[in-house]
Amino acid sequence: MAGRNHLYIPGPTNVPNEILNAMHIPMEDHRSPVFPKLLTPLLNDLKKVFRTETGQAFVFPATGTAGWEIALTNCLNPGDKVLIYRFGQFSHLWAEMAKRLGFDVEIHQEVWGTGIPLDKLEARLKEDTQHTIKAVLATHNETATGVTSDIAGVRKAMDTANHPAFLFVDGVSSIASIDFRMEDWGIDAAISGSQKGFMLPAGGAILAFSQKALAAVETSTYPRCFLDLKDQITNNAAGYTPYTPNLPLLYGLRKAIDLLLEEGMENVYARHYRLAEGTRKAIAAWGLTLCAQPGFESNTVSAIVVPADKDARTVISTAFSKYNISLGAGLSELAGKVFRIGHVGDMNDVSMLGAIAGVEMAMLDSGIDIKPGSGVAAAIEYYRATAA
Ligand SMILES: *Cc1c(COP(=O)(O)O)cnc(C)c1O
Repeated sequence: MAGRNHLYIPGPTNVPNEILNAMHIPMEDHRSPVFPKLLTPLLNDLKKVFRTETGQAFVFPATGTAGWEIALTNCLNPGDKVLIYRFGQFSHLWAEMAKRLGFDVEIHQEVWGTGIPLDKLEARLKEDTQHTIKAVLATHNETATGVTSDIAGVRKAMDTANHPAFLFVDGVSSIASIDFRMEDWGIDAAISGSQKGFMLPAGGAILAFSQKALAAVETSTYPRCFLDLKDQITNNAAGYTPYTPNLPLLYGLRKAIDLLLEEGMENVYARHYRLAEGTRKAIAAWGLTLCAQPGFESNTVSAIVVPADKDARTVISTAFSKYNISLGAGLSELAGKVFRIGHVGDMNDVSMLGAIAGVEMAMLDSGIDIKPGSGVAAAIEYYRATAA
């Protein structure tokens, strides 16, 4: 099919040409005296994307999933109790990982479409007077349902309860796109991956740890090897890595950080809000609803519920085979019930309009009763009215 495949999934996201070009490099000696000139400033500048001054940033040749494991195994001890609210496929997988790693996982099931219930969290932490809970695992942006939770509120609940647990945050689909403040929110481990807001291929677990978390790395007795932060800390201090780094990814990340900081993090967040809001205007004009309940809407991904007698998989397959656009599928219990539009990374008004128009065609072909052009019309009015 002529023309490019339009990628509207919430990761991997579109890689800007500047980043593609920056990654197109010959291999070099990662033990050479010039390698630290790449790595040291890169890790320093990464802290500005995480919004931390006192924390430390790391890059592992891995994915977001490894980031979960790095936080758990480097800061905790075997069998420690962790608390997690589960409301989508990613919070589910993180909880399952913690179980498989032998932690004592206290799972609170919440309705998919909602996020972390702050009042319940505060009450649970207050009840834990013995401080048996060692870490709260918070999924900032649940990519499966398009739900963003209030991490400032989580910190406030922990402080109000005067609870010393670590706060580990999965920001894989929020960091570098949705307002994220590691320092202000007292986050101990902030976890991301390269293929979402960072606009890179997958293959990088991108993290930052607080001083409190780094101190725990020294004393944690959990067995670990490849994902041991101690080896990164020692080697990074001299500007090197414990094993062969993914060089193109590091050069790409250098460019991604430059692009993000050049735009300004506040502007990056505002752009994602606008792109998401235009998409939401279109969804409302179609007469459809989000999986996310009011107040939880994500600015990086919208999960759209199709009418009960229709199958979202038909919309997705029609969109792909007939119009060459890729949409996100409903995961696990949402399979067939929702399709997802990613509005994260290297996107602008017109790329969103492409997504919205393509979705309209695919929905009409799938027998979903919407008015042709209604979503596009709502989105163009919003984008025109709010453009810089
Ligand atoms: C994508 C994603 C992950 C998993 O990341 P991988 O890079 O696929 O391991 C974890 N959490 C959230 C919220 C995600 O969106």
